[in-house]
Amino acid sequence: MINKAIICDFDGTITETDNIIAIMKRFAPPEWNELKDDVLSQRISVKEGVGSMFKLLPSSLKNEIIEFILTHAKIRSGFEEFVQYTKDNHIPLYIVSGGIDFFVYPLLNGLVDEKQIYCNRADFSQEMIQIEWPYSCDETCKNDCGCCKPSLIKRLTDNEQGKIVIGDSITDLQAAKLADLVIARDLLLEKSKDLQLPHRAFTTFYDVIQVLDSLEEVKA
Ligand code: MG
Ligand code: ZN
Repeated sequence: MINKAIICDFDGTITETDNIIAIMKRFAPPEWNELKDDVLSQRISVKEGVGSMFKLLPSSLKNEIIEFILTHAKIRSGFEEFVQYTKDNHIPLYIVSGGIDFFVYPLLNGLVDEKQIYCNRADFSQEMIQIEWPYSCDETCKNDCGCCKPSLIKRLTDNEQGKIVIGDSITDLQAAKLADLVIARDLLLEKSKDLQLPHRAFTTFYDVIQVLDSLEEVKA
């Protein structure tokens, strides 16, 4: 696979755990749990669920939430080396995340250029936090994703490029179906096995580098 592009998830992939869940556990009233269950059982869309969860939080908590995330979120090991690897090998890297700008950007500050990051946005100008969706589904996606990974893959890559999707969860599945290779952990790994998508497993980003290196060797 000579010409390739990488589409990498953020929550639970670059970070070790899900930041939206961490924020809700710490700051939201108990109602958020029901919304989470509704999303997981697909009674409501990710967009509706996440939007409604953040509306449970007053905008005045902004700084406290950012401080909490910066203190508690952990970047998975090898990520910095992985980013360097993509630069050294001229592989386009796109971070495509259902997370929100106010925690995604600070956590990736100094690691990934903002131009490579595609995520949702928070508006703190009203009493409660409002989420904005700059990368909603195109006309071919009916999932009401919020940040639509399939739509972004189609927009960011061309037919010549081998598409490598890195992710951890059910929210990466539609993107994984468009991929030439999925590098997966956790639930996405199970799903990739079930659906027999071409895939490799990873735990750290050192594993990811090894997988990418093995693709280079095939070429040579
Ligand atoms: Mg994830
Ligand atoms: Zn979509």
